Amino acid sequence: MSQKSEPLALGIDLGGTKILTAVVTSRGEMLSRDHSITPAKQDHETVIRSVLESTERALREAAATIETLDAIGIGVPGLSNPETGILFTSPNIPKLKDVPIREIIEKQLGKRAVLINDANAAALGEFYFGAAKGASNFIYITVSTGIGCGIVINGKIYTGAIGTAGEVGHMTIDDKGPSCSCGNRGCWEVFASGTALAREAKQKITGGAKTAILDFAGGNIDMVTAEVIHKAAQNGDGLAGRLIQETGYYLGVGLANLINVFNPELIVIGGGLSNIGDMLLGPAIKEAKNRAFKKPFQTVRFARAGLGRNSGVLGAAAFSLEEMNRLNKL
Ligand SMILES: [Zn+2]
Repeated sequence: MSQKSEPLALGIDLGGTKILTAVVTSRGEMLSRDHSITPAKQDHETVIRSVLESTERALREAAATIETLDAIGIGVPGLSNPETGILFTSPNIPKLKDVPIREIIEKQLGKRAVLINDANAAALGEFYFGAAKGASNFIYITVSTGIGCGIVINGKIYTGAIGTAGEVGHMTIDDKGPSCSCGNRGCWEVFASGTALAREAKQKITGGAKTAILDFAGGNIDMVTAEVIHKAAQNGDGLAGRLIQETGYYLGVGLANLINVFNPELIVIGGGLSNIGDMLLGPAIKEAKNRAFKKPFQTVRFARAGLGRNSGVLGAAAFSLEEMNRLNKL
């Protein structure tokens, strides 16, 4: 592993539930991969310590050291400024607020690093190594607890004025809709995420609806998740099927907005909820077709994400190598 033929990067994907770190070659080959649980309720020191511990394990597994790395890319959830390296706010890790996360990690590791939003990292992962290879105008969305997004325009991530662009999960779908973790109400992810699907099912169950969903959750309503609902639907539960269809419908409402605004050539859909597949994506694409302008809808292709959970860590690594190249040329 010590021959130094190919540039190496450390990719970090700090998520609301998990931390993934990997030593990655410039061709997207993972020499190691470490997976751990995010201490999401803890203070930022504890969260960063977990990231550093995961980094150590990933380096050891790849027989690499900080010195042998060419770049470090940190993917973070929430609103951040990649220029200043500050993470403003992260709904799923509430105590990460206005943290100069890049600087702290750089100091600890003794090497420069770049910061990128986690969904943008995943979009770039798909762009370099996955379903969006060769596409220069595309949108990546990840549908899980919320909806994340990376917008690629002319082959570059669009980050906006201060780096926070792409928060499509918080575009308003219904101005009087249920409240959202962002403080607004009626956001897209309040209707079309795994959280939304589980919430609707729980409401129906509590209201006395006839369904077997609870049986698939071991009789415990707190265990009703999107996965459980999917399982129930696969076993012929009518309510579960209808709820997934409804979530797909709302997914399509938002997709139509994206198609009309961006005229993308491709929309890549990833994230845990997308694993439901056609039962969810069928109604989504149907509704997108109903609402979007005809011409851009005819142009757009839809694809499932190709890298699964590795898109973010691979994208963070590839982005960091690209950034280091760019900075070295300045
Ligand atoms: Zn919101």
